[in-house]
Amino acid sequence: MTNSIYKLPKRFFPFVSLLFLFVLITSGWSLDKVERTTVFVNVSVIPMDSERILENQTVLIRGEKIIQIDSTDRSTIPVGAQIIDGKGKFLMPGLADMHAHLLFDDAPEHMALYPAHGVTTIRNLNALLPLHFEWREKVKNGEVFGPTIYTSGPTIGGVPPWVKIQNELMRLITVLLPLLVWMVIWGILRLFKHPKALHQFLFFGKKKPEKKKTWMISGTFLILGVGLAFFKVIPMDVYHTLQFPQADIVETVSEARNAVALQKAAGVDFIKLYDYSSQEVYLAAADEANKQGVYAAGHLPAAFIEDALRSGISDAVHVSEFSEHFFIDYDPESEEFGTHEIDMSQSKMNELADIAVKNNVALVATLITPETMLLGIEDLNQLLMRPENKFVPLKDIEDWKSESSKFIRFKDQGKWRREKWRPLLMKLTKTFHDRGVPILLGTDSDVVGIVPGMYAHRELELLVEAGLTPFEALAAGTRNSARIAEKMVGDGNWGTVEIGKRADLILVEANPLEDVRNTTRRAGVMVRGKWYSQTELEKMLDEMVEK
Ligand SMILES: [Zn+2]
Repeated sequence: MTNSIYKLPKRFFPFVSLLFLFVLITSGWSLDKVERTTVFVNVSVIPMDSERILENQTVLIRGEKIIQIDSTDRSTIPVGAQIIDGKGKFLMPGLADMHAHLLFDDAPEHMALYPAHGVTTIRNLNALLPLHFEWREKVKNGEVFGPTIYTSGPTIGGVPPWVKIQNELMRLITVLLPLLVWMVIWGILRLFKHPKALHQFLFFGKKKPEKKKTWMISGTFLILGVGLAFFKVIPMDVYHTLQFPQADIVETVSEARNAVALQKAAGVDFIKLYDYSSQEVYLAAADEANKQGVYAAGHLPAAFIEDALRSGISDAVHVSEFSEHFFIDYDPESEEFGTHEIDMSQSKMNELADIAVKNNVALVATLITPETMLLGIEDLNQLLMRPENKFVPLKDIEDWKSESSKFIRFKDQGKWRREKWRPLLMKLTKTFHDRGVPILLGTDSDVVGIVPGMYAHRELELLVEAGLTPFEALAAGTRNSARIAEKMVGDGNWGTVEIGKRADLILVEANPLEDVRNTTRRAGVMVRGKWYSQTELEKMLDEMVEK
């Protein structure tokens, strides 16, 4: 009896202290996460719900959300809140890059480039899984400083024509595989002075292999290999995964449907379709996405662009994808590019835009991608001298200079690109916009020459050059993109400065509705409710470059 009375406290006290410690830690953690309060005072708010400015406002942020917007004269500031003076400044939603590519071979810390440049959300259009799922979580948990990420899985599509031969060579591996395996075993046995039993098994009991027997055995294994290849015992997937770790190569309708279903089950936010598959395979993938209720974005192959628009795909990720439709005497099977005369007729552009509108297809214009390519073609030195190259991996810059770089290979296309293609892309963007296609901001970072985060601001300028007003260009990177996130995964609670919205914000020194270039004159960025002054962000970037 006495024993048990003394036993209880012995276990009880450590248990209670542990419980207390746990409550303390978790409440401390949630205090930081939920109760952090920041107030912008005297600021001009650009809410982006419509084209207007609310002057002299107080904007209160608690946790990750905007909880109050009111005139500064009427507002009281909660005790302990961080106060940011917004006098003479403009508070607008953070930008979203709806066509971004996370790197495969770099640290997740690289993602800081986005929010440090005011891009608080990205859509990753080609993922290496599960790596990018992990990055998505790390940002969400606050382990890594980065933008909110929506990610596809690996690109679903075919292989480009110049890879097809390589592909057939891969198939040859299956044919030769049994023979190779046998040769390796034979080699190993010789090396280790062949244990008798195995040796006799392999060479049918003979002490030394006869030439004729060796040929017979080789032939048998070769036939076996042909059989394996014919029945696809080793699926091409295996080779494709080795060759293109970031792509889901599909060759048949059932492979396409399978790929979509598997990616959906894995937890992608949307699927990314790519070119180079047959019409049948492409349409099957889009159809499966609709059946599975997963959002599809991607390239629209030139050979059947109208059917691709009607396939159920929800957004086209380059305006350039539509350009071949306007090339005179163009053969989609040929690889010719940079020579064609272009049909600039407005009615033909309207027709295509109207199909997009009818089928609810949005457009990520990515004008900055061909623009950067054009700069590299016309003046490679200027591209090489850009100060922002400090954010570009050195090996990429070496690649730009190499003989095989696109800047060198496409050298002859400069005049055509500037005089013919560029006006087409601009007019197409404007036409799609005018006919009612939602335009989204996208840069195609990290492809050749595109600096993550920073180039979203160049894209804004190009959208204005195409004919959008500054408000319409900003809408592409804010509220239009949030609407897509809503359609994609029901997470559209951002993209405007309104009560209840996620506090992804940029504070700028001058009015971006007058000149979109003002989005580059930042006083700081708020990422999911946490404020970073421009000084802090620049320090962060400097440290990144030094590493
Ligand atoms: Zn891309």
